[in-house]
Amino acid sequence: MAVDNVWPISYDELIPYYEKVEATLPVIDSRSTAKEDIFYYGAQQADWNELTGKNITSPGYRAQPNAILLRNETASIPDYDRERDGAYGCTFRGHCINGCHIGPKVQAVAKRSTFASYVPWALYSGNVEIRPNSFVTQILTEEDSESEICAAGVIYKDSWTGVISEMRSKVVIMAGGSIETPRLWLNSGLPRNPWVGRGLVNHWMDSVTGIFDEEILMEVLGKPDISPFVGQNAAARFDFPGVGAIQTMGFSPGLYSSGFYGISDKGFAEFNQVSPDAIWNMEGGVIGPKLKELMKDYRRTLSLLILTDDEVNQKNGVSLNYKIRDENGFIPKIVYYPGARDRVKRDRLATIGADILKKAGAKTILRSNWPANLYIHIQSTMRMGFVTDTNCEARQVKRLFIADNSVLYNSLGGPNPTLTTQALAVRTSEKISEKYF
Ligand SMILES: Cc1cc2nc3c(=O)[nH]c(=O)nc-3n(C[C@H](O)[C@H](O)[C@H](O)COP(=O)(O)OP(=O)(O)OC[C@H]3O[C@@H](n4cnc5c(N)ncnc54)[C@H](O)[C@@H]3O)c2cc1C
Ligand code: SF4
Repeated sequence: MAVDNVWPISYDELIPYYEKVEATLPVIDSRSTAKEDIFYYGAQQADWNELTGKNITSPGYRAQPNAILLRNETASIPDYDRERDGAYGCTFRGHCINGCHIGPKVQAVAKRSTFASYVPWALYSGNVEIRPNSFVTQILTEEDSESEICAAGVIYKDSWTGVISEMRSKVVIMAGGSIETPRLWLNSGLPRNPWVGRGLVNHWMDSVTGIFDEEILMEVLGKPDISPFVGQNAAARFDFPGVGAIQTMGFSPGLYSSGFYGISDKGFAEFNQVSPDAIWNMEGGVIGPKLKELMKDYRRTLSLLILTDDEVNQKNGVSLNYKIRDENGFIPKIVYYPGARDRVKRDRLATIGADILKKAGAKTILRSNWPANLYIHIQSTMRMGFVTDTNCEARQVKRLFIADNSVLYNSLGGPNPTLTTQALAVRTSEKISEKYF
């Protein structure tokens, strides 16, 4: 059953929280390297508009706003002295997907994951204690004076020592991610709700890859290669609200060959007949001598990641497998089948991406056609409006809040979800503080 797509809170209401998170991390438009330059060139040749500003309402391309510190950029970092601790910020040496370890202290790591940003801020506030290796196995509840079910604390296990403890609290916030949060709800025996665990979306990703001749690159970039490992791994994007997004994607050679050439739902490219209408000339996985041939051209290759605005379907999601337990309870069972409209959107984005590569001068274009179970942007399994109210408080369990990707109402139109989840979490923290403290 497909469901309607209108969020229970407005975009305008979220804007101040987006701004707050963007200033805190901070989020900055990324700088261009060759892979972005050739992408912008292709998008211009394909007659797409350059998007300016933050409120994207029409299709076009732009620099990707990234939560990555730039070299020598002034940023507010707790307990960090540039003179004493040294320089910080992105070196553009690339290989970001393997993890960014640039920065003499964790709070100054270039890539602003929660671990390098909000966690140090919280610790330096002096108001937070972190208990690592603690895995919550049950949400505790009690009835209040009006006979309503309320969260009262948690049971958790130290995953190193195996010691099980109980912690009582005024409020409990679930943020275990879109699989573990509904799993914990279900394993805790919290009230039945037909939307708990349901409505999973994941941007049903795909990729298109273009290989360029040296002459074309000399003409467009003034140099013979793209070297896709250089720079931040995703630094330019194309947004198409309501359809999805496309990002440049620079991987190291190993990830290139396995990710862009090695994963497909369409079998092997050498056995596939490409439709005469398709812009790509190969589709599917590549192995053997052909893979060697493509990888010889690795430095002259650009890949694009496709993020589909896939739609919520109550049949997709997380339930418990009551036959198998691990040390934390019944394991989650995950089901995701994209819908017919999702397929139309994804095909459209793959066509736009391939067209940008072609207009930029790519001589060979391959569409990977990834399977639907590449779960990277998992969202919307504890949807606001269905499982929670608009404050992200569980409708059936007072004082229980949700603050991860699972509470997102849908797949957001296609963009990467973390900024929205963080903005919503900041808003939720205000709601908790107003209501209970
Ligand atoms: C390879 C990759 C690249 C990505 N790139 C981007 C990107 O460029 N931009 C973007 O916006 N997003 C990106 N994402 C998605 C991003 O990681 C998610 O949007 C984000 O991490 C989701 O946050 P979350 O809080 O929902 O879940 P998580 O980040 O998964 O956090 C959940 C945490 O809860 C812990 N946990 C789970 N269950 C329990 C329990 N019972 N007790 C205690 N702790 C528990 C987990 O260990 C985990 O630390 C990427 C994801 C991947 C895998
Ligand atoms: S290029 Fe990537 S890995 Fe290197 S510093 Fe910048 S963000 Fe970190």
